[in-house]
Amino acid sequence: MDTTTLEKLPGLFQLNDLALQNFKSTIHGQVIMPADSNYDETRKVYNGMIDKRPAIIVKCANTEDVIACVNFARNNNILLAIRGGGHNAGGLGICDDGLVIDLSLMKDIKIDATAKTVSVQGGCLLKELDAATHEAGMAVPAGIFGTTGVSGLTLGGGLGYLTRQYGLSIDNLQEAQVVLANGSLVKASATENPDLFWALRGGGGNFGVVVSFLFKLSPAHTIYGGPMLWHIDASAEMMQWYHDFITKAPENINGFFAFLTVPPFPPFPEHLHMKKMCGIVWCYTGALDKAEEVFKPIRAIRTPALDFVGPMPIPALQTMFDGLYPPGLQWYWKADFAKELNKEAIELHAKYGSGMPTPLSSMHMYPVNGAASRVNKNDTAWNNRDANYAVVIVGIDPDPANNDKTIAWAKDYWNALHPYSAGGAYINFMMDEGEDRIKATYGDNYEKLVEIKTKYDPQNLFRVNQNIKPQMS
Ligand SMILES: Cc1cc2nc3c(=O)[nH]c(=O)nc-3n(C[C@H](O)[C@H](O)[C@H](O)COP(=O)(O)OP(=O)(O)OC[C@H]3O[C@@H](n4cnc5c(N)ncnc54)[C@H](O)[C@@H]3O)c2cc1C
Repeated sequence: MDTTTLEKLPGLFQLNDLALQNFKSTIHGQVIMPADSNYDETRKVYNGMIDKRPAIIVKCANTEDVIACVNFARNNNILLAIRGGGHNAGGLGICDDGLVIDLSLMKDIKIDATAKTVSVQGGCLLKELDAATHEAGMAVPAGIFGTTGVSGLTLGGGLGYLTRQYGLSIDNLQEAQVVLANGSLVKASATENPDLFWALRGGGGNFGVVVSFLFKLSPAHTIYGGPMLWHIDASAEMMQWYHDFITKAPENINGFFAFLTVPPFPPFPEHLHMKKMCGIVWCYTGALDKAEEVFKPIRAIRTPALDFVGPMPIPALQTMFDGLYPPGLQWYWKADFAKELNKEAIELHAKYGSGMPTPLSSMHMYPVNGAASRVNKNDTAWNNRDANYAVVIVGIDPDPANNDKTIAWAKDYWNALHPYSAGGAYINFMMDEGEDRIKATYGDNYEKLVEIKTKYDPQNLFRVNQNIKPQMS
């Protein structure tokens, strides 16, 4: 047994050994502390720029463990972080000095083929969810990297290849099991605790620990998709075409616009290695025998320099970029929503896109129109239903020595484009940008979120997130 005393740990000096030992003895999963050999490995999150040192990490085995952690943190006034997949841009799945509820052991997935639903525990990654639902010939709309956590992605909204057809992940959420700040376990759905259910759909980790989600399943199995790239010189022309196309396209055609650098290894053709490109990563879910016909006019706009678009199982598309971006890289994120994309904005995109400072740096522009825009902006906490795009600019490199230049590029790019944005940004693409940005994101839903936060978490126990502060009495 680890004999580290909590008195020696910053932030937890008020606890005695007995309280810690009692707490540890209730946990069915694993308790990991700084003296443990796996501490450094366990505290790592996806973004290598984040280097936090929690006092205790609890890998919860079950809901009872989560409840024990919530009660222990609340009763002893310990900072509490919740870790789903650990992918958060700003590293909000971990904290310094506090207690981390790590859900990575809680991975149950149950499909009900008759009801067309899937129940997913809070520690699942998207690739695990996709693999399970694919076997049933269906999918839940989610993100474009398999290594992302279902939990954090969903609670922030959840956008990806199926957004235009089936909406955001939250639009497909039917129920959540939540451990509240007072340690009780409740269900949130349209009929039970509907205010909590409203807030969970976009309000992030502010309201409790979601131990499991129940999603509606939709048909999607083998899609026609993948990346189609053009030389960076064609950026302005292709972005204009993309905007005209994707704002009117049938909803079974999804594709996000990107700037990227072609990796220097197969299967990428040698003559394109390390070339900066613009591109669209497509996902067409319509009839496969019609796909070539659907994409013929797209290919005719301008011959792609690289065309990897073809039929593939949806999990293959959803994990296509996982290997290119392993955990531990340095990521600096800037984001905005955009409604319009006028000529000036397109020219600025083309200028900064051609100036990407490192081979892994990128810009993604995800369409959030189609089915996602048909939900009323006050029906869930996610207030950005009238945006056409969630834009994210990411300066990325393995070497921290390059952080100055990746950060400068991302900030300059964002500053130039921000005047053309819709106000606010997708909370899952933001680092720490302060309360005003959070308010701008939630718009006229913010006040209601504060009310619900005050009701369910009046002491702001859950504050390692894009925090909605409760009203102080
Ligand atoms: C490489 C990469 C690709 C991405 N692609 C997409 C994409 O395609 N679409 C998209 O929408 N987003 C995408 N994102 C953003 C992603 O949605 C966020 O990073 C999200 O926070 C990740 O969730 P997580 O569970 O992995 O994060 P974590 O870091 O574990 O947690 C993030 C936040 O969620 C809270 N949280 C986590 N689990 C729970 C829970 N069970 N209950 C309550 N609160 C919880 C935490 O408190 C924290 O504030 C991507 C991120 C990365 C790094």
